[in-house]
Amino acid sequence: MITLRDVQEALAVIWSEIEKGNADAAEIKKILSQDGQTQEYGRIRRHGRPLPDDTDDIIKRLKTENLIIETNGKIDFTESGRKRASRIIRLHRLAERLLHDVLEIHGGAMHLSACEFEHIMSDDVEESVCTLLGHPRLCPHGSPIPAGKCCKLQTSEARPIITTLDRLGAGDEARISYIYTKDHALLHKLLSLGLAPGAVVKIHQKSPSLVLNIGATTLALEEEVGKMIFARR
Ligand SMILES: [Zn+2]
Ligand SMILES: [Zn+2]
Ligand SMILES: [Zn+2]
Repeated sequence: MITLRDVQEALAVIWSEIEKGNADAAEIKKILSQDGQTQEYGRIRRHGRPLPDDTDDIIKRLKTENLIIETNGKIDFTESGRKRASRIIRLHRLAERLLHDVLEIHGGAMHLSACEFEHIMSDDVEESVCTLLGHPRLCPHGSPIPAGKCCKLQTSEARPIITTLDRLGAGDEARISYIYTKDHALLHKLLSLGLAPGAVVKIHQKSPSLVLNIGATTLALEEEVGKMIFARR
């Protein structure tokens, strides 16, 4: 029997494959047939019962529920399928961030727990977790987290544990969690300056430019750059 959980897992797997540019139906079916124990780091795989022979049934079920379509050997989401898959992925990656940044659980344990969270997190919990984490853009593997309502509004009064450097005050100390930028040259420059995950920074001054200390080094950053650096207070 195919459970709701199986459907959710399959949607998550298909999302992460399509995101990587792999929409090939045969390959997606192969990945769906492998059990969670064989998952590569950072790749979402189906968990639960490792039953390779029910893969066709799952695909069939996703099609009858009008969640995916298959054309010329390629799989794509329908509108409702994309909506549901993006929510599961969002919960999975938010849970990863929570486990990784706040609870400091890494690797396989992080993945397995995230995979549980994605099935049980309610809307309220989702918003609280997202706010606590400062509305993160990327999971610990560097994959994008689909934005939720809270990310678009950012109205909550809760004080996030994870925040961008531009939101810290003078005198505040924080440990860098990750840097969100698509500009590789900039990323390398920041890393070479010591602004790497794990580094502890202290805000020295906020205007006219953001000045911070890392150890004995003092750096001045543009505000725009401060917005890309997520750190834990
Ligand atoms: Zn799962
Ligand atoms: Zn991830
Ligand atoms: Zn949010």
